Amino acid sequence: MDNPAVVSTKYWHTLADSRIQCDLCPRFCKLKEGQRGLCFVRACQDQQIVLTTYGRSSGFCIDPIEKKPLNHFFPGTAVLSFGTAGCNLACRFCQNWDISKSREIDTLADAASPLTIASAARELGCHSVAFTYNDPVIFLEYAVDVAQACREQGIKSVAVTAGYINPEPRAEFYAAMDAANVDLKCFSEDFYQRLCAGHLQPVLETLQYIKHETDTWLEITTLLIPGQNDSTEELDALTQWVVQNLGPDVPLHFSAFHPDYKMRDIPATPPATLIRARRIAIENGIRYAYTGNVHDVDGGSTYCHECHRKLIGRNWYNLREWNLTNDGRCRFCGAECDGYFQDAPGTWGARRQPVRLANFR
Ligand code: SF4
Repeated sequence: MDNPAVVSTKYWHTLADSRIQCDLCPRFCKLKEGQRGLCFVRACQDQQIVLTTYGRSSGFCIDPIEKKPLNHFFPGTAVLSFGTAGCNLACRFCQNWDISKSREIDTLADAASPLTIASAARELGCHSVAFTYNDPVIFLEYAVDVAQACREQGIKSVAVTAGYINPEPRAEFYAAMDAANVDLKCFSEDFYQRLCAGHLQPVLETLQYIKHETDTWLEITTLLIPGQNDSTEELDALTQWVVQNLGPDVPLHFSAFHPDYKMRDIPATPPATLIRARRIAIENGIRYAYTGNVHDVDGGSTYCHECHRKLIGRNWYNLREWNLTNDGRCRFCGAECDGYFQDAPGTWGARRQPVRLANFR
């Protein structure tokens, strides 16, 4: 292959009619020579499935880890974030559609090798690298290589994903990831089919896999869309499923929708909806429930599941209070707070800093 961004992949097989089926995600695209899958970045070339965006990025930026959002994974630290182009779901409400729906290779402005990314993260003082903005499962080969290069330099890797991936590649992907925030878009198969062109069950299976069969730290985000997935019944069912199948210690984030992409006719989520969702989650036994994309000091802070005192006070992405001991316990009652914590909170704050990787070669 002449183009260095095009690499061979291994999750595919040849069908009886000589088309090639991609087996990376539950979409199982069946492609003829020259065709691209729904994700657009995987294609049938030379009678195999290739990834066409290896080493290409839509840009790098340093964010607070809370913005992924991860509230229990080294709070206050900086994370070097990047994405590529394309996505394997087709959510009508996509909040990142300029990247995820991009079919323009020139969107991929910044080329970077795994080693360059890991070295840049270390030099910039980032505790971790995040695969975000679009879903990293579609560029699995690149994401895994970056994660391995990071691990060699002591940098953690974070996946921000919809969890729409088949079992075999899932095992390879999560073996490389130290933390993940998985979008559970709703708790209804109808919603997944109608608004995302996908299915619910594979996502539930990914959540169970991460929680029970990996060492990857897991948090979940649900974007609440007025009238679509915010009924009390659905939130009750979703949070009960999480407690029963994943346990009470997986943090849940309810974040606010803004009208975008193909869903501009629905208003932004009222803060009261997020507060109601958080209350339902806590009533059902979720230890750590958060509101997101709104200013809500109570809903953004972390509380002890035992004595209910405030452990980490947050104002947006700024940490204002820290009541954890050096070994991650409540300073008041000694109960363990689930997650990964340093002796002291990170000091990155709420800054967002674009980075040109070309400066690190
Ligand atoms: S990863 Fe892309 S090409 Fe493969 S099945 Fe999913 S959408 Fe289709």
